[in-house]
Amino acid sequence: MPRVTQGSDGASGISLRTAAAYRYGKRFIRSYRDRVSDDRSVRRIVVVGAGMAGVQTGVSLREQGFPGEIVLLSAERHQPYDRPPLSKSVLLGAADGSAFEVDFAGLNIELRLGLHADALLPETRQVVTAEGPVAYDRLVIATGAEPITLPGSAGVPGVYLLRTLDDADALRPVLAEKREIVVVGAGWIGAEFATAARVSGCPVTVVEAADRLLVGVLPAEISEPMRDWYTASGVDLMTGVKVSGVEPGAVRLEDGRRLAAGAVVVGIGARPATGWLTGSGIALDTDHAVFADDRLRTNVPGVYAVGDCASFPSARYGERLLIHHWDNAVQGPRTVAANLLGSDEIYDPVPYFWSEQFGRFVQYAGHHVDADELVHRGDPAGASWSVCWLRDGTLVSLLAVGRPRDLAQGRKLIERSAVIDAATAADPAVPLKAAVCSAA
Ligand SMILES: Cc1cc2nc3c(=O)[nH]c(=O)nc-3n(C[C@H](O)[C@H](O)[C@H](O)COP(=O)(O)OP(=O)(O)OC[C@H]3O[C@@H](n4cnc5c(N)ncnc54)[C@H](O)[C@@H]3O)c2cc1C
Repeated sequence: MPRVTQGSDGASGISLRTAAAYRYGKRFIRSYRDRVSDDRSVRRIVVVGAGMAGVQTGVSLREQGFPGEIVLLSAERHQPYDRPPLSKSVLLGAADGSAFEVDFAGLNIELRLGLHADALLPETRQVVTAEGPVAYDRLVIATGAEPITLPGSAGVPGVYLLRTLDDADALRPVLAEKREIVVVGAGWIGAEFATAARVSGCPVTVVEAADRLLVGVLPAEISEPMRDWYTASGVDLMTGVKVSGVEPGAVRLEDGRRLAAGAVVVGIGARPATGWLTGSGIALDTDHAVFADDRLRTNVPGVYAVGDCASFPSARYGERLLIHHWDNAVQGPRTVAANLLGSDEIYDPVPYFWSEQFGRFVQYAGHHVDADELVHRGDPAGASWSVCWLRDGTLVSLLAVGRPRDLAQGRKLIERSAVIDAATAADPAVPLKAAVCSAA
């Protein structure tokens, strides 16, 4: 059966044994036929994008018993692979790659590598590619996100991004040569890259345009102590400093300074890879994400969207969410597959992500806004601590640094909309679940 695992290093893999798949297939094909016996027109489902969301969609379709054709288009030429290890074990050379352990042939999933979807023609139900149109009965858009580039940096030697296996492969020698590196952006990817670069012995400067870390993600009282994570690791962290340009061997700053750089790694965010949908009639939101509904359907009949490329409305949090994290690319496809096969499932997850940086394991579950009440469990200047966010007493999110038990308990409590006693929760010696007053 399909198995998605997340190792302690954050690495993950889907493995699927063919025999088990067929056993599963038979059972689910029966239930699938029961459910959609009125819709025999769905013979061919095309999935565009073979990252976690696209691959998991194909696997989930088989797992849930879809007997028809599944075609998976991938712009990349590599066997589909997982991204989190790219800034961790793959970058450090501890793993050669992170290919998903999926038996595509055994699952009868047609994998078309190196084939970019150039456009979508919903009227004729076709995806336009350089090798001709690919017809579909149902379509899943899973094209993920692409990194935002630094203006003027295209083609400048020594400037790198970190999104793909090719990017990680290109950066490995940079680390091996212990080059002096300037990282632009102190977000999650910038921090993880800086960690790997320091482990490799490179001198590292991180330049962040905002005047503090993780603006818009975490309040200052939590993010300010994180500065010490950088400095204690030997990283020169510069905040409130804007980059005006890059040139071979240097980064120019707006204040006129020039930083020598044997390599420049740009980690200033990613945006949904939806340019190919221009003119298709698929509605996009202001972030360029596909504007999906709570069933992950687009506005065009028969077309779904999932993963980093799609936003969806969350009743749980009362707002539209665009999530660029691994867990969303694993969970969303199960809902998409179920709905493709005739169910009527709502997607309203408790978001989750992890990051490994500067020797710390950082985990976050849920979603908070500035107005939510913050409850500290331990000192953010210490080695391990958590913070909870409460909305009218209900636990809505939790950040845990080196406290995986808090995360595990908190995640369940958020799912149950548990009301928490703030004073009890503030004692890190008391298990979080002991702070529950009531739960749904
Ligand atoms: C270096 C790195 C480290 C990360 N670490 C973590 C972590 O520690 N924890 C965490 O929670 N999350 C992490 N993430 C985020 C997580 O990996 C992503 O959220 C997840 O990969 C999203 O999966 P996806 O399938 O939606 O998109 P993607 O993985 O981006 O896959 C989309 C695929 O579609 C292809 N594609 C795009 N356009 C087209 C087209 N027109 N035609 C055909 N194919 C196309 C792309 O080439 C790509 O292969 C990390 C991401 C990166 C880059």
